[in-house]
Amino acid sequence: MAVSTPSVASRDASAPAENHPDRLTELFQKQKEHHLTVRNTTADERRARIRRIRDGVRNRRQEIRDALYADFQKSPEEVDLTEVKSVIDEANFALTHIDDWMASESAPTPPLLTGTSSEVRYEPKGVALIISPWNYPFNLTLGPLIAAIAAGNSVIVKPSEYTSNSSRVMREMIDGLFDPREVALVEGAVETSQALLDLPFDHFYFTGSPEVGRIVMRSAAEHLSSVTLELGGKSPAIVDATADVDDAAAKIAWGKFTNTGQTCIAPDYALVHESLYEAFLERISHYISRYYGDTDDARRESPDYARLVNQKHFSRVQSLLTDAMQAGARAVVGGQTDAESRYIAPTVLAHVPDGARIMEEEIFGPVLPVLPFRDLGTAIDRINERPNPLALYLFTTDDDNETAILDRTHAGGTCINEVLLHYMNPHMPFGGNGHSGIGMGHGKYAFQEFSHARSVLRRSYGSKLMRYIYPPYGSMTRRMIDAALKYL
Ligand code: NAD
Repeated sequence: MAVSTPSVASRDASAPAENHPDRLTELFQKQKEHHLTVRNTTADERRARIRRIRDGVRNRRQEIRDALYADFQKSPEEVDLTEVKSVIDEANFALTHIDDWMASESAPTPPLLTGTSSEVRYEPKGVALIISPWNYPFNLTLGPLIAAIAAGNSVIVKPSEYTSNSSRVMREMIDGLFDPREVALVEGAVETSQALLDLPFDHFYFTGSPEVGRIVMRSAAEHLSSVTLELGGKSPAIVDATADVDDAAAKIAWGKFTNTGQTCIAPDYALVHESLYEAFLERISHYISRYYGDTDDARRESPDYARLVNQKHFSRVQSLLTDAMQAGARAVVGGQTDAESRYIAPTVLAHVPDGARIMEEEIFGPVLPVLPFRDLGTAIDRINERPNPLALYLFTTDDDNETAILDRTHAGGTCINEVLLHYMNPHMPFGGNGHSGIGMGHGKYAFQEFSHARSVLRRSYGSKLMRYIYPPYGSMTRRMIDAALKYL
């Protein structure tokens, strides 16, 4: 298949020669030409490829920890839990279930189609592009890659330039494990990403911000390719009047400050019933001290507290914090920042005024605004004023409140009396809704995202039966149509 050279060629000056659009086009063409071989791989062959990734991650565990420490001082415990374990879990789940996922599904036969049988076959989309973010670089790059391979695709992967140490480890790993005609990893920044987006991939799987999601969708529209967008947004945590406030504070503090708030499904802000407001602020302050230390010095020294990924994100979060405090918000805990080390203390803000920028944008950093509410309807209205969040958390012991929240809000996923854990159940789809994303990841859902469900109808007898409905339409056709309509 002929592919034109991307228009971005002249702007890609800083990228390595191998990322020149001509080279990327060549790589893409090679994958296209070789794809028939990949497409027809058996479950065993796909399993062998998935095992390579799983074992590669196992064998490079220390390298992965070192890379993430160098990238943004992430603790080895969080690396093991949220990167290494997540990829291994995704691989093991695919290894166990791939036979079922690949199996054709037979479909029932309506009376009019007597003499035929029908099935749905799951076929690979073709050559897929995966563009991933920096916040969980291994998990969000290799997780979708496992699904793409399980579904029989050839894949080019472009991880984030912000976590260059992690990208380098993945690059070395993929280079050593795969024929680039099957799987290739391209390191590079925005222009490399744009050059790849100019190519007519069969599927675009993007994880990142809604702004870049729009750019990816525009490219997919140019090529009429399918797209998965795993985006972000402002995910609320609601603590109603019946909640166990201590438990809610312990969990929200963990969900918010893990990875220094740089988690797509972190609680972005908390809505707390006014009767529990002061108690919640006291309990969350307690848990921050318990997790990261009693003083700001101790929190800076904590081996479990990471840094903002780069100056751009540090300045962005710092400016949201400064803006909120100038508008009258009060830091109940934290508020300290240090540009040189890209440190922002775990911070809880009370009395955040309406209209503060921090309540308009996704925070994606370690600052938690806590807002009081009097009745649940007001909290629901507040959530519904904003685009659909990626996650919504509810702390309650009241079934009616749970029903009201589930029935009257939209969100990609929800936990009741928990945070983040819905991500960890591979039997459930993970994804957004509208502004927080399109399509699904994880397990079978990710496999189907990278697959085309092809309907196949096969005639085995009664070959001439349908001729009664062919033109010219006579009395027999009329009788058949009348009979069919009678039973509708
Ligand atoms: P980002 O959108 O800035 O970057 C993601 C990827 O897109 C990177 O590989 C980057 O090189 C590329 N890119 C950036 N600008 C581009 C452009 N103009 N054209 C083409 N490609 C471009 O996102 P990020 O800062 O890496 O990640 C943070 C965002 O991702 C947050 O909004 C977060 O909520 C979201 N996120 C979502 C999920 C999810 O699963 N839904 C997971 C993690 C992060």
